[in-house]
Amino acid sequence: MGDERVDAMEIDGQQRQEVAAAVPDGFNADYLRIYYGKLFPYVDFFKWLAYGNDAKHPGCDQSYIGRRELSFTLENDIYLRFQSFDSAAELETSIKEKCPFKIDIGPVYSIDPAKRHAYAQSGNNVFVPVERELIFDIDISDYDDVRYCCSGADTCLDCWPLMTIVIKILDTSLRGDFGFNHILWVYSGRRGVHCWVCDSRARKLSNEQRSAIADYFRVYKGGENSLKKVSLTGPVLHPFLARSYTDVLKCFFEDKLLHSQQLFASEERCQKILELIPDENVASELHDKWQGNRRSSISKEDVNATRWEQLKTTLQSGKHKTQGLRRCVEEIVFSYTYPRLDMEVSKHMNHLLKAPFCIHPKTGRVCVPIDPNNCEDFDPTAVPTLSQLLGELNAAGMQIDSENDLERTSLEKYIRFFRTSFLQPMLKACKEELEAAYSAKLQQSKNTLSW
Ligand SMILES: [Zn+2]
Repeated sequence: MGDERVDAMEIDGQQRQEVAAAVPDGFNADYLRIYYGKLFPYVDFFKWLAYGNDAKHPGCDQSYIGRRELSFTLENDIYLRFQSFDSAAELETSIKEKCPFKIDIGPVYSIDPAKRHAYAQSGNNVFVPVERELIFDIDISDYDDVRYCCSGADTCLDCWPLMTIVIKILDTSLRGDFGFNHILWVYSGRRGVHCWVCDSRARKLSNEQRSAIADYFRVYKGGENSLKKVSLTGPVLHPFLARSYTDVLKCFFEDKLLHSQQLFASEERCQKILELIPDENVASELHDKWQGNRRSSISKEDVNATRWEQLKTTLQSGKHKTQGLRRCVEEIVFSYTYPRLDMEVSKHMNHLLKAPFCIHPKTGRVCVPIDPNNCEDFDPTAVPTLSQLLGELNAAGMQIDSENDLERTSLEKYIRFFRTSFLQPMLKACKEELEAAYSAKLQQSKNTLSW
C-alpha cells in the first residue's frame, strides 16, 4: 500500500495541491525513504559529530569521526550496532540504503568500533569509549504522579510546560554553574526532551565526573519516606536550588501548574499534597479547613489558589516555624515541578541516545532541536510530521535531486536553527581549540629541538 502513496505523489500539475493534502498520516519505510532521500541534514549532522576534525588543518584527528558509534534500528527491530563512517557521503549512502527506523548515537571509542573484533584478535584489548557528549534524557512519563491531564507517553499543552521547566533549569545551570556553551536541546519525538552538552570539556568527562554532575541536579536522595520525592536538607538551600526556586519553579507552580493540573481540585489530590507535610497535626488542620470550605462560597476556579494560600499561611505561620516544616512549601513545589532526570543515561559514556532529526515511529514527528531561549514557545503538537513534510514536498512539486527541497518544508527553520545557533558557534570554538592545541604542540617540539 505504501507504493501507491509514493506513486500518487508524482502526479503532475494542478492536482498537486490536493494530492499534497491527501498524504495520509503515518510512518512507514516508503515515507521514510523519501525523508532520507530529500530532507535529512547529512552534512550538518556529520559536521557536528566531527567537531572540526574533518578539516584540512594538520592538527585535525583524522581518525576521530570514524571512531564514533552510530547504531541503526531497522524495520522489524533488526538492530545494527557499531556502525561507523569516515565521511558525510558514506553516512548518507548507508542511511539511504538501510533506511533505519531509528538512529542512535554512541560514544567515540579508542578504535573504529566496526573493526573492534580485528583489534581484539590482535591481542590488544583497547576497545573502550574515550569521548561522549554529556547527555540528559527526560521523559514526561516520569511525571505521572503530578499530572492529571495525561499519562504514560501522552502529552498535551497542559503538561508539556513541565518539559519547558526542565530546559530552563538545566540550561541555565549548565551554562552558569558549569560554564558550558554548546548545548543542544532536542524534542524526543513523543514524550520528552534530550540534552546534548557538546563542549570539548564535557565530551572528555570521565564516568565519575558525569556522575558528580548528575548528582548536582538530584534533589531526591531516596531514604525511608518513599512518598516524599524531594528532601531539601541543610540550614540554607544550595544557591542553585534557591535560584531555581525563586526564578522559575515558584512562579511556574503558582501561576501555571496549580491551575492547569487543578492540583487541589479533589479530595484525592489534596491528600497527595498533605502527605508531603511531615507534621500530622498541621496536615489534619489543613484537611479540616478544606473539608469546611468544600461547600462554601469558593468557586471551582478559585479552589486551587485558595487552598494553596491556606497551606502556605498555615505552614509559615509563627506557631509552626519548626525546623522540619520550614522547607515544606519549597519541598512541595520541588516535588511537583523540579526536573526528573534519568540519571543512568547521564552517568555513563557508553549510553546510546537517539539522534536528532530521527522520526518517531509512533507519532511520525521529527526529533527537532528546541531553542532554550524560547523554549516556552515550543509546541510539540506543531512539530512537523513525516506525512506533513511529504505533503509540503508535493505541494512544491517533486523535482528529482532538487537542492531546494528542504526550503519548501516546515523542517527548514529547525535545521536553520541547528546550523546557526548551535553548529556554527560550536565549530568556531572547535577550530580555535584545535589551532591552539596544534601551535602549543609545535612550540613544544621546537623547544625540545633547541636543546
Ligand atoms: Zn497533558
